[in-house]
Amino acid sequence: MHWKLPREGGCRCGQVRFKVSAAPYVTMACHCTGCQRMSSSAFSLSAAIPADGFEVTQGEPVIGGLHGATRHYFCPRCMSWMFTRPEGLDWFVNIRSTMIDDTGGTAPFVETWRAEGFAWAKTGAPHSFEKLPPDDAWEGLMKGYREWTPPGA
Ligand SMILES: [Zn+2]
Ligand SMILES: [Zn+2]
Repeated sequence: MHWKLPREGGCRCGQVRFKVSAAPYVTMACHCTGCQRMSSSAFSLSAAIPADGFEVTQGEPVIGGLHGATRHYFCPRCMSWMFTRPEGLDWFVNIRSTMIDDTGGTAPFVETWRAEGFAWAKTGAPHSFEKLPPDDAWEGLMKGYREWTPPGA
């Protein structure tokens, strides 16, 4: 596995810190308009970390974003979007790859919502979907990710 562990990360101001002690199931880029707005950028980057391999070690993140069943967590001071606990999927935490101190090897393996993305925004992800992958594609994608060597790893 190409992920150095453990890894630490934090928000822009440093008030909230976290630790990752398990390799991701998959890394992703999302071009959807929701991610564009929440990340203030062309797309968001994430790594799906097994839930028991993620812990907040400092600070108290607060809910932001949609305030819905999918919980988006932010630093209460600098308002950085740090991680997401998706509705009904409590076995992983989607951390923002940009919050990790050492981002080596975090390149996205899958990109989603290409249909809503900027035409010029290229991520280099080897698997690209106009919307989301079909439900039955995830197992194969996660297997492919384990065997992949990301650029910059
Ligand atoms: Zn902060
Ligand atoms: Zn998105």
